Amino acid sequence: MANSRKKMKILHTKKSVSALSRSWHRAGETVALVPTMGCLHAGHLSLVALARKKASRVIVSIFVNPTQFGPNEDFARYPRTEKADLKLLREAGADAAFLPTPAEMYGPEGEATVSLSESRLSRTMCGEFRPGHFAGVMQVCLKLFNIAMPDIAVFGEKDAQQLAVLRRMVRDLDVPVKLVGAPLVREADGLALSSRNRYLSAADRERALSLSRALADAEAAWRAGETRPGPVLAKLRRAVSRAADSLDYAVAVDKDTLEPVRSLGPGTLVALAARFGSTRLIDNRIFR
Ligand code: AMP
Repeated sequence: MANSRKKMKILHTKKSVSALSRSWHRAGETVALVPTMGCLHAGHLSLVALARKKASRVIVSIFVNPTQFGPNEDFARYPRTEKADLKLLREAGADAAFLPTPAEMYGPEGEATVSLSESRLSRTMCGEFRPGHFAGVMQVCLKLFNIAMPDIAVFGEKDAQQLAVLRRMVRDLDVPVKLVGAPLVREADGLALSSRNRYLSAADRERALSLSRALADAEAAWRAGETRPGPVLAKLRRAVSRAADSLDYAVAVDKDTLEPVRSLGPGTLVALAARFGSTRLIDNRIFR
């Protein structure tokens, strides 16, 4: 095993990924997939580490998926750092990296004609501000599952709504993959790691610390005995609104159904999205 781990495979075609996964399965190995959009950081690498614990082979995909970006979003300027990403993945012990082009994924016409319809789960929260986003996420993830045929796929709780939407898709369509959630990784000062953090000026970054602080305060209030979402969210919204250029939403919902909770408790997801300059950041805390 140690020997065969030596060289990470770099693949660009769907066919080569499917063939590799098949060969691993035939050899009795288990396969984990970690889908990413690249510009990798410690948050992504924690997913790779978890994937390595859960499966004997790990494929990491790097694909900035055009179908999950809105027309006025940051698709064109989304940071692409392929060389550094591959180095990090090698060091992290990934077995294969899959870097398709949009044409490889969607064909020369550029668009798949069949798409998954959205539900309340994908229309709420970020879905309200990014219409079509989760339809694109479901589409690309289902394609990646079909291509890589993983036994498990690892997703970060940083994107808690994405995880809830994908869990539901896997259940509704009986997709033969087990989804594993990985804890949100933060900088030492609390800022949630995100590829988009590099858009932030020093001043914006300072202001963005309000997100993790306000979420920590919300959890502290719950631990001190407050179970009413109303006052906790009101305080959270005030604090973030003071620091951010705008607050898209701040909610307390059940982490699986994304329905607003009547009472804060274990399994409550407090999640928000806010803008600093032209950068939109999300953050959350899941109460345990
Ligand atoms: P992205 O490249 O932003 O599409 O993210 C790829 C995967 O990494 C998703 O499952 C994210 O939830 C996860 N991820 C991104 N940032 C973090 C973080 N700070 N902590 C944990 N997981 C993360």
